[in-house]
Amino acid sequence: MKLTDFDIEFIKFKNEKATFHYKIDDAFFKIKENSLFSSGDIKGTVVCERNDGNISVKYELNGHMNMQCERCLNDIKVGVQSERNDVLKLTQNEDLLREENYLSVNYQVYNIYDSIYEQICLDLPTRKICKHSLNHEECEIQHPKAEDTKEVDERWADLKKLIKK
Ligand SMILES: [Zn+2]
Repeated sequence: MKLTDFDIEFIKFKNEKATFHYKIDDAFFKIKENSLFSSGDIKGTVVCERNDGNISVKYELNGHMNMQCERCLNDIKVGVQSERNDVLKLTQNEDLLREENYLSVNYQVYNIYDSIYEQICLDLPTRKICKHSLNHEECEIQHPKAEDTKEVDERWADLKKLIKK
């Protein structure tokens, strides 16, 4: 999987409307440098429609992400289910082309990778904990005996390092 797999070439559309399907898995997150996440299994459907002067791009995501609970470090699956609709305006104006959601009339290629990545991030709960995972279970917090305390502290320290990144 590579970044250009997510290029959509509107100029090649035979009809006004086209639908693309994407399998968003671990390979997807490897494309992003310093990705916040590394594992998931999400079906992405992107429906594009050309109109006069603009193109609408509708994203639908359905699946889950694999991650560690921020509290108890258990492996959890967090659901992703979201829809989003963007409108890309076609223009020849160089100034407008530097802004988001504008596309050159002469070069109608648009990469949707970042939009999908951003949509996944926005859909995830702020706190990635067991309660917000697909099985909605409470965290398994182990109450350590005195001699285990050090080990637990180290795990928290590691977690804090991750959060700061
Ligand atoms: Zn937990």
